[in-house]
Amino acid sequence: MTDAKLIDGKEIAAALRSRVGEGVAALVAKGHARPGLATVLVGADAASQVYVRSKGKTAAELGMGSFDHRLPPETTEAELLELIARLNVDPTVHGILVQLPLPRQIDTARVLLAIDPAKDVDGFHPMNVGRLASVSAGAPLDFPVPCTPLGCSMLLAATLGSMAGANAVVVGRSNLVGRPVAQLLLRADCTVTNGHSRTRDLPGLCRTADVLVVAIGKPEFVRGDWVKPGATVIDVGINRVPAADGKTRLVGDVAFDEARAVAGHITPVPGGVGPMTVACLMYNTLQAARRIDGLPFLAV
Ligand code: NDP
Repeated sequence: MTDAKLIDGKEIAAALRSRVGEGVAALVAKGHARPGLATVLVGADAASQVYVRSKGKTAAELGMGSFDHRLPPETTEAELLELIARLNVDPTVHGILVQLPLPRQIDTARVLLAIDPAKDVDGFHPMNVGRLASVSAGAPLDFPVPCTPLGCSMLLAATLGSMAGANAVVVGRSNLVGRPVAQLLLRADCTVTNGHSRTRDLPGLCRTADVLVVAIGKPEFVRGDWVKPGATVIDVGINRVPAADGKTRLVGDVAFDEARAVAGHITPVPGGVGPMTVACLMYNTLQAARRIDGLPFLAV
């Protein structure tokens, strides 16, 4: 059997970013407000700092306003809520992203609830979670959808076109990734099963999948003989493991070389889902700015 075709997340994300950039320029040219993204980081977590920096930089590159709010680790919940209240009414801000995880003294659910759902570009506000849970098959996603799941569904659409009738297995049921991915696949007319740590015979379940999305945070957990020949595999996992040269390297939740020999299409790690996450955040910010200005949903 020949190796699976790689799904090039870098290329698909670059094309999305470019379309978003064009959308921003077109809005501004028509005299609408420049879309603005506010990022909020509480504390000094190194990985979070990298993510937030890359989000702000990409927003600026696409011609958006970019507002970076850094708060000390001892910030109280009241102080964070006060900042969110200000961003909610700031007309230059169309998207608010509070980088997770938050320090222990802050109740994450209360913070997510405080963000104006119209500016909730991460799609974690309960109102947007409910919209995704109740969207009809094929209906437009004219509300913010969590960025990584949206990126997975865009990669699948770019690779497969219609997925109607496909058996889809999503491994992982987190609110951040697995659960919204399952809902997006249901909307795309797949027959969806959502596996998790208590699933019986996970390898057997995975072997039924025409579309297999894995988001569990366990390095190379899904083996090649779990993959149905010709299946499309989306590996969301990002795990740092020791490398032969004494450094570290990134691997996904799927044993890539084994799975690649069996699958029809597969995402690499890095270079698969990762680049789509930031591109989808930009897409969500553009759509939020359009909606706030009363403009219709734009398919980009
Ligand atoms: P969580 O830890 O929140 O959730 C993990 C999920 O995997 C849970 O539902 C858990 O099941 C399930 N799981 C854990 N172990 C097993 C197992 N042995 N067998 C079956 N299911 C299992 O992780 P996230 O969803 O936030 O992230 C998952 C991965 O995706 C991570 O590697 C993360 O780094 C990566 N990620 C990548 C992003 C990107 O941009 N590419 C963005 C976000 C995350 P249960 O519910 O039963 O505990």
